Amino acid sequence: MPQAIEPVGEPEFLSGEGQEFDLHRWQRTRIVKQELKQKMTTNRRRFLSGALATSGLAAISGAFPAQPIVLNAEPSRGAKFVDVHVHITQEWNERGELTARSLIRWMDAGEIEQAWVLPLISPEAWFYPITTEFVLEQTRQFRERLIPFCIIDPRTDVFGGRKHFVDLLGRYKDAGARGFGEHKWGGAVDDPRNIELMRSCAEVELPVLFHLDNIRNTDTPGLPGLERLLKAVPEVTLIGHGPGWWASISGTVSQADLGGYPTGDVAPGGALDRLLGEYPNLFADLSAGSGHNAIRRDLEFGHAFLQRNADKILFGTDYLAEKQEVKQFDLLRAMKLPNDVQDKIFRVNARKLMGDV
Ligand SMILES: [Zn+2]
Repeated sequence: MPQAIEPVGEPEFLSGEGQEFDLHRWQRTRIVKQELKQKMTTNRRRFLSGALATSGLAAISGAFPAQPIVLNAEPSRGAKFVDVHVHITQEWNERGELTARSLIRWMDAGEIEQAWVLPLISPEAWFYPITTEFVLEQTRQFRERLIPFCIIDPRTDVFGGRKHFVDLLGRYKDAGARGFGEHKWGGAVDDPRNIELMRSCAEVELPVLFHLDNIRNTDTPGLPGLERLLKAVPEVTLIGHGPGWWASISGTVSQADLGGYPTGDVAPGGALDRLLGEYPNLFADLSAGSGHNAIRRDLEFGHAFLQRNADKILFGTDYLAEKQEVKQFDLLRAMKLPNDVQDKIFRVNARKLMGDV
């Protein structure tokens, strides 16, 4: 009986308007996905069997051989990725809690050696705050694997302006924070308050991971606001993410595109190529639907873009809930980038930004 081909992932994966569907590539992608799924199932079984053994239920389970839980505090050998964009969440999240332990289990299954754990506190960022303090606390036991970031909203009422921002950021850094973000505030990317905060991040030497769309860190087509910020604070390290950032891969982009997931061929001359080329301290985070879409919408362009900007692109997922589908693994592996490019994007660039290389 011929096997039915099931669609993988969200509809956009198959049916981008005006896109030619590349079946061969898609099938290869699907095989990689199945392998990953199998691996995750094996991993889950191992965990389950360990959990049962610990609780004395192994004898009646019968299904799996009893094995101890191995929750690596050290990076596993042969690990391939550093994920620059994940969140841990609390139990009132509608998709359930994602603890540091379950995050590490997922990382082990996906060959992720380290992840940057990002708080979210601006009212526009998410529906409840994930504070810096929470992230620092939850990652404390796993700092070899989980790298905590910190966050402040530019509207924070500080006394004495930058001096107090610097003081607060310095305290977070002393407590273990190694970067700033996810910066997702509801204002213009070049708002004077944001420029002041970015200056403070530069002073404390914390790289900034920001989300750009039509609500947060807003800008206009071509990203002139971001360029003003880059010129105003040339010493800050900025890592771009989000729909507005990734829509700007294309030379033709509308204001509405900055808040969405535009499909179809990418026109050359986009703001990303230009800005990544001109500003040594600007980087790109491939996470989430926006990062995936930007590369997937035009595979030819995407492949060349990743190679052109190999020193500036960082692997990321935006993983924040159990069983969340992450398309970046399949897409990037299926693209078969040259090994040196892959190494840079998958982990080396991220390690460099953390001063670990
Ligand atoms: Zn995020």
